[in-house]
Amino acid sequence: MRIGIGTDVHRLVAGVPMHLAGLAWPDEPAGLEGHSDADVAAHAACDALFSAAGLGDLGTHFGTSEPEWAGASGATLLAETARRVRAAGWEIGNVAVQVVGNVPRLGTRREEAAAAMSAAIGASVSVSATTTDGLGLTGRGEGVAAIATALVNR
Ligand code: MG
Repeated sequence: MRIGIGTDVHRLVAGVPMHLAGLAWPDEPAGLEGHSDADVAAHAACDALFSAAGLGDLGTHFGTSEPEWAGASGATLLAETARRVRAAGWEIGNVAVQVVGNVPRLGTRREEAAAAMSAAIGASVSVSATTTDGLGLTGRGEGVAAIATALVNR
């Protein structure tokens, strides 16, 4: 049994579509910017899975040397990460993700987000959210962050 950890941050930009925790958030006036859909929750979860399996990180697997993954959705990266982790001989126990930021208000869609991410990896993903009392880059609304842990079994 091994655990892993992952974090991610992307910049919040007005007019950009918001993709977070495997869901689209069409009512959000700002979204996350990145070379993919910038889904910080999905990216942190991928990093946690690779970390647990000892397979490097998101950049190792989906970096500039693998251009076919540029622009991939968070759900697509989660599914491919899970496939690679299982191909390396690991069974996925569960993943826990915490989103840190002021927007979107995850509370009303928390279970929907957990279901979307769980479906993508084929194992249980729990989603929670918190804010930082107006402090730091997430508190000032400059970006959204996510932290994840994953448990895998040989
Ligand atoms: Mg990212």
